Amino acid sequence: MDNKESAKERFLDTFLGAVKDWDKHLAESINSDDDANHIIKENLQKMIEEQENHGNAIGLGREVWYSNDYFIHCLILDFISDVKGDQDLVDELKLIYVGKLGNPGLDAEAINMDMESEGYLIKISFEMDLNILLFSNFVSYHLYGMQIDDEDEIKKLLPGAFETFLLFIDKKELLKKTEEILQIGPKERDLTSIRVHIASELFEASMKFLLSHEIGHHFLKHTESNGRNLVSKFIPTDATSNQLHLDEFAADNFGFDLSIIQGKKESNKTFLLAPLIVILMLALFDRTPEEPSQTHPSLRDRYLNLLSRVSEVNEQVASEHQHFFDFVASWINGLLPGYWKTEWWKPIAE
Ligand SMILES: [Zn+2]
Repeated sequence: MDNKESAKERFLDTFLGAVKDWDKHLAESINSDDDANHIIKENLQKMIEEQENHGNAIGLGREVWYSNDYFIHCLILDFISDVKGDQDLVDELKLIYVGKLGNPGLDAEAINMDMESEGYLIKISFEMDLNILLFSNFVSYHLYGMQIDDEDEIKKLLPGAFETFLLFIDKKELLKKTEEILQIGPKERDLTSIRVHIASELFEASMKFLLSHEIGHHFLKHTESNGRNLVSKFIPTDATSNQLHLDEFAADNFGFDLSIIQGKKESNKTFLLAPLIVILMLALFDRTPEEPSQTHPSLRDRYLNLLSRVSEVNEQVASEHQHFFDFVASWINGLLPGYWKTEWWKPIAE
């Protein structure tokens, strides 16, 4: 037990290009010779200083963080404080390490346990994080639009909705924009606007759902390779995929419970929307969200399952969210005609 490596050590040892500190890594990788980059670097350094002050203030140095990414670390801290009545769960959560990687691709995964290490390792790609940020931003224009009556104000939101959506599908534009945002720095942006507030809350809630889904795979023992192998000996190969499908629904349900129920967010409509929005974002990378794969149930079924979880909490909100989902998915479908073969999010008429 004593010489086992921690999840953090395992992360740094296993993955090529894994860094101890994501923001420091970003700051160091920027060549500050040209003026624009110089501003980016200064902003990042300011941010790192603020993170360090905050970490020191709450008695946690950088070394004991739950992630190499400050924001993700804070989300895990939230989970820990959400479940503080349940000491066993607190102790388990403290064994989590989330490693952010610079690899391209939409990737978040609970890494299988092994004998040589302890703790629960989760990896997430930079691109996954960024896509959730952008998609939350995009959705926030529509959400805010729903809340206001003034037609002119609603029209003013359209360019923003288009712009954020295009960023989402055009990676080159996205990189340019990311640099712009870093140059402006968080201070100068209009943090008081309601729309920006909605976007950042939706981002937080979506990341929490995503992370707690992966935590679910660990805590529900889907990552104990022994357990999985034992089971697969007794079930025929074609049924194995069904077990994987069941695991996926179980992880979604666990994620819903940890991020919303345990987090006491049942009356927060944005939090109730977030799991559905994560599914919609994933559907943008899936031409057939109505079809299951070998390892995953269809996004349509995951959406319907999560929608039913929302309706258990509040039927009225579930119905509002179903309409909103239909509105945004139809909007996307209008912009990318033929991308999806079906209106996969719609209930099948009986
Ligand atoms: Zn999963």
